Amino acid sequence: MAEKSFAEQFGKPIPEWLYSENTKQPFANCTLCHQNLTNVKYTICKSFSRLSLEDSFVLNFELVMCQDCSETYSNNFSKETLSAFEKLAKEYPGLSPNIQIVITDVYKDYLPKPICAVTKKTMEELYEYELSAYVSENLVIGSANLLGEKAIKLLDDCLSDESSGFMDDFFNSLIDLPPEISTILKEKKIIF
Ligand SMILES: [Zn+2]
Repeated sequence: MAEKSFAEQFGKPIPEWLYSENTKQPFANCTLCHQNLTNVKYTICKSFSRLSLEDSFVLNFELVMCQDCSETYSNNFSKETLSAFEKLAKEYPGLSPNIQIVITDVYKDYLPKPICAVTKKTMEELYEYELSAYVSENLVIGSANLLGEKAIKLLDDCLSDESSGFMDDFFNSLIDLPPEISTILKEKKIIF
């Protein structure tokens, strides 16, 4: 019998809360290069917000980056930005622009909903959040990441002018992004 891959040993089926809000199915293509995701490692990112705790969440955007796109993207942060991220991660363990791959035996087949690394709040207690997860062989590896409004602000503050400029150029160069996504990406900085 062939040895089980890392993903087969530690991955968990993609829960519905990490499906595309638009198709109600797991994501099928990279938002940036459009390649099919079947045999590709990728990161899911979904952003939601609401005006009051009584309101329902509204989807701001959802996007998926295949590993190639995501490497191109994150390799271009300035040194200044990267050291600011590092400092922040020391203060708030788990708060990092990169998905933390934490493998535990506790949840073998089940992916628990994450809490914010800064405030420890659940999604239900936040006004705004970004949810991300890393997928390999159609299985979620490690835990999902949750950034609430405070965590998003702290990461945004790490961005140097150089990094912000790069991010604008990066997303501007993707001419065939859906217009609703490119508009939002110009206003909000996405940090993977
Ligand atoms: Zn891609």
